[in-house]
Amino acid sequence: MQREQKAHQARTENQSRRLFQRAQQYLVGGVDSPVRSFKGVGRENPLFISKARGSKIFDVDGNEYIDYVCSWGASILGSAYPSVVRSVRSAAARGLSYGAATDQESRLAEKIRNSMPSLELLRFVSSGTEATMSAIRVARAFTKRNKIIKFDGCYHGHSDSFLVRAGSGLATFSIADSAGIPDGVASDTLVARFNDLGSVKSLLDRNTGQVAAVIIEPVAGNMGVVPPEAGFLEGLRQLCGETNSLLIFDEVITGFRIARGGAQALYRVQPDLTCLGKVIGGGMNIAAYGGRKDVMQLVSPLGPVYQAGTLSGNPIATAAGIATLDALRSSSYAKMDALGARLEQGLVNSAVSSGVNVRVQRVGSMTGLFFLERGDDAPVRNYDDIKTRCSREKYSQFFNVMLENGIYLPPSAYETIFISTVHSALDITKTIRTADFWFKQN
Ligand SMILES: *Cc1c(COP(=O)(O)O)cnc(C)c1O
Repeated sequence: MQREQKAHQARTENQSRRLFQRAQQYLVGGVDSPVRSFKGVGRENPLFISKARGSKIFDVDGNEYIDYVCSWGASILGSAYPSVVRSVRSAAARGLSYGAATDQESRLAEKIRNSMPSLELLRFVSSGTEATMSAIRVARAFTKRNKIIKFDGCYHGHSDSFLVRAGSGLATFSIADSAGIPDGVASDTLVARFNDLGSVKSLLDRNTGQVAAVIIEPVAGNMGVVPPEAGFLEGLRQLCGETNSLLIFDEVITGFRIARGGAQALYRVQPDLTCLGKVIGGGMNIAAYGGRKDVMQLVSPLGPVYQAGTLSGNPIATAAGIATLDALRSSSYAKMDALGARLEQGLVNSAVSSGVNVRVQRVGSMTGLFFLERGDDAPVRNYDDIKTRCSREKYSQFFNVMLENGIYLPPSAYETIFISTVHSALDITKTIRTADFWFKQN
């Protein structure tokens, strides 16, 4: 195994390293999105990808990996799914973009509303970032209030309002996590603790009549996987109702993934507004925000909230989205859940028998993996738990060994491991066997 590993490593570093050096001459840090750099897992260069098919992804050196990133969850059917590729090809032949209305947009919207009835009206945009940014704009217009509440560790894209997290000593102020965010914007973003209704209630109490919306990833997927505890989402629904604040579910990951109807169907809590992305484009650039008719009617051209996009509802992206949603059946969710359960069980059993303390938190095809101190068996409930109890270093070591053995996990400790409908039982078995090999050595 070891010799095989070394040879594999030598191969992975050749072309990818050369291409990364070239990329750094032109692109900031050699990448177009920071986590792609593999800096978070201590590697000198990222893999450069040549192609992906089914559950496998290939780098420029010809190495094959089982893909658990799935374009950050977008590729729910795996890569290059035949009916999606056919739809995209045929759409491309009819023109790449018109900047004008097409019936395909309504067809995709209809499929979305059939699965998520709370989206009475929606608007397509091109990225999840645009969806969340626009959702809070319309929430602010509807409530005539400025502040929003988000949760520590939840990611809602990179618009100014969301790149904020509470500093521990600054309960009433917010500090910007990213440079370049004006204080005036940051101070309108209040930060609560996931799975902690009391933290939300106290922010609402201290900001009476000022909170436009509470926005949440109903299953947090950007700090590993942190499911909502029983009563948490229901409690948020009630608090928002009592304070006339809107409840926004950011289902950019969970929509059409943990259930066809997303978290709102799985947990039976109805938000006022919903943001979608990732799966609804099956790998193409499309996202959406939508919800209550009386709120969405404020968006231009019906109302005074301006929001537009040259490529919004693009015909290639809507073609990919329609084909993706058409291919998803209830059996697809059952299959992904069964594979997820198998992965979870295998990892847990192997860790237990090796004496490694790994905690696996899973909702359907979303799996989070946390390396904890010996003896720590409490659930990971929020970002504080992650900061204080989970080992980044252990994950990095694990990631690197897995990668060198043909398994591509997310290149960051607290992202989600995604399963697609085309992962196989054999993929899962191979993954568990490789993990077992490393657990035994640690
Ligand atoms: C990925 C993601 C976004 C941002 O979507 P982009 O298309 O990357 O802008 C927003 N919210 C959540 C929950 C996400 O996972």
